[in-house]
Amino acid sequence: MSQGGYFHSVRLDLAKCKGCTNCIKRCPVEAIRVREGKARIMEERCIDCGECVRVCPNHAKYVVTDGLERLQDFRCRVALPAPAFYGQFRPDVPPGAVLAALLGAGFDGVFEVAVAAEAVTLATRAYLERGMPRAARPLISSACPAVIRLMQVRFPTLLPHIIPVETPMEIAARLAKEEMARERGVNPREIGAFFITPCAAKVTAAKQPEGSLVSSVDGVLSMSAMYAEVLRRLPDVDLSGELHRSSGMGIGWGAAGGEGRALGTGTVLAVDGIHNVVTVLEEVERGTLSDVDFIEAQACVGGCIGGPLAVQNPFISRVRMRRLVEEYGKRGPGVDEAEVRRRFRQGFFDMVKPIGPRPVLRLDEDVTRAIRKMDRLEKTLARLPGLDCGACGSPTCRALAEDIVRERAFETDCIFQLREHLEELAERMVQLTRIVPPALSRDKAPGGGGGGEPEDRG
Ligand code: SF4
Ligand code: SF4
Repeated sequence: MSQGGYFHSVRLDLAKCKGCTNCIKRCPVEAIRVREGKARIMEERCIDCGECVRVCPNHAKYVVTDGLERLQDFRCRVALPAPAFYGQFRPDVPPGAVLAALLGAGFDGVFEVAVAAEAVTLATRAYLERGMPRAARPLISSACPAVIRLMQVRFPTLLPHIIPVETPMEIAARLAKEEMARERGVNPREIGAFFITPCAAKVTAAKQPEGSLVSSVDGVLSMSAMYAEVLRRLPDVDLSGELHRSSGMGIGWGAAGGEGRALGTGTVLAVDGIHNVVTVLEEVERGTLSDVDFIEAQACVGGCIGGPLAVQNPFISRVRMRRLVEEYGKRGPGVDEAEVRRRFRQGFFDMVKPIGPRPVLRLDEDVTRAIRKMDRLEKTLARLPGLDCGACGSPTCRALAEDIVRERAFETDCIFQLREHLEELAERMVQLTRIVPPALSRDKAPGGGGGGEPEDRG
C-alpha cells in the first residue's frame, strides 16, 4: 500500500526504465511523468489499466499477482477462472478439461466466474425492472474495475450512472465459499478463493475493493501463470466429473459485447479499449447518449480476452469464445433464476459502499488558492508551445503547466522554452562581450558618464 493509501498492482522497475517516454502518452489519466531519466507513476491517479505495461519496450512496468504458495494459507482452496480463461486454449480443449486441470494444480474445488456472471446478469435485469430515474441513464456496467477507477479520476460526475450490482468476480467468491462450506462442512473462513485474472485492475479490485468493504477474493493468480499450469496437466485430466456448468450467457462475458448480449434488454452500447471508453464517457458527460440504456465498457481492446495477463492473441481468443458461446448457448444458466431474484431482493448482489471520486484534479484544498493557481496555470500554458510533444516528461503542455503550478516541474523543462531562454541568454552574452568596463573604455559614455575617458572638466 502506498503512502496515499492506494494499492496498485501495476508497478515500475526503476532499474529497467530508460526514461524513453513511450508510456506517458498512452496513460489515459496522465499518471506518468519522466523526470531525471526515469518514469514515475502518480499513485493518486493510476487506475491500473495496464496500458503502460503493454507499451513499455523495456518491460519496466509489470503486474504483481499472488503466487501459488498462497494456497497453503487455507484449509480448502477454490479456483475462480475468469470466463476469458477458456478462450486461451485450443478449440479441442473444452471448459470441462480446463477446470479438471485446474483441480490438479492444488485446488480442492473450482467455481466458474462465468456462472457468477450469469447470476449478475439476472440480478441486473431485476435491478433494471425496478425502473430507473431518467437522469441516471445511460447506466454503466460495474464489471471492469479499470473503468470504474477511470470514472473516479476523470469523470466523477458520472459515478451515479454505475449499476450498484457487485461484479462477477466478487459474487463468484461468495457463492464458491458458500457451496464449498456446505458440501465439505468447513468454516467459510478456512476457504481461500483464488481468482484467475486477465488483468491488473482485477488484482487491485480484490486488494482494495470499491463497492464493498472487504473482498471475498483471498488471492489473485495471473492468467498467464495458470495457463502454463493447466497446459502441463491437460494430457492427464480426468473428465468424468461434471465441473463445467456455465452456459453461453456467462462465457460470453469474457469478450467485448458479451455482457450486453447476455442482458438482452434495452439499447446497449458496448465499448472496449480504454481510450475508446474515454471518448464514450465524454459523450455521456455532454449528454448526447440519453437514448442509450446501458453501457458495457471494458478497458481492454476485445474485452477481458485482451487483458495484459492473457496469453492468447485476442483476435484468436475471440473466435474461440464465439464458438464456445454458440456451443453452450442453448444450455440454461448454471444458476437458478428464482433463487437469484430471491437473493437480489435480500441485497446479496448490492454494492454496500458508494463509489466516490478521487480528488486528483484539485489544485489546492483552499478555493481562493486554487483559483489563483488556475490563473497561473492558464498563463503558464499560454507561454508553452502547445505541441504536446512529451519531451519535457509530461504528457501534454497542459499537464506540464499543471506540474509547474504544483511545483513539480520547471518551465525550462520544455525544450522550446529552454531554447528561447538560451537564445535570450546567448544574445545577452553577446551584448555583454561588447560592453567594456568604464576603466578600460576609450569611448565617451552616453550623457558624459559611464565608460570612456574621463571628461576634461578644466
Ligand atoms: S496502469 Fe494505466 S493508469 Fe496506471 S500508470 Fe499505467 S497507463 Fe497510467
Ligand atoms: S476489460 Fe477485463 S481484463 Fe481489461 S481491465 Fe477490464 S476487467 Fe480487466
